[in-house]
Amino acid sequence: MNDRKIAALNYTARPGSRWARLRVGMTWGEARSLGFLTGELNYRIRKGDIELDRGPRRENGIVAADEPGTGVKQVKPATQERPCLRCRQPFKSEGLGNRMCHVCRHLNVSPYAL
Ligand SMILES: [Zn+2]
Repeated sequence: MNDRKIAALNYTARPGSRWARLRVGMTWGEARSLGFLTGELNYRIRKGDIELDRGPRRENGIVAADEPGTGVKQVKPATQERPCLRCRQPFKSEGLGNRMCHVCRHLNVSPYAL
């Protein structure tokens, strides 16, 4: 967590204020070493005064495969071709629980349908 960098500073600090010593590109650890407390930094982040870079991009909690420097070699593809249970046409299934194509999933099969 300590290697997240400050991506933007959206406030104007009074000259001489310690907030004026924060710089874009500083890491969280560097900011802490200037004497800032986690709580006051988090408060500024919640207010939107400080924006951090977002860290490695994640997909379903897994670091994305193309993220440089993460050492992640392979991530299971998000979609997989499966035959639709209703029309048997192959479609891009989003997971084991997704077995009907988009068209069939939105068909009204109720006997009371008009
Ligand atoms: Zn279908």
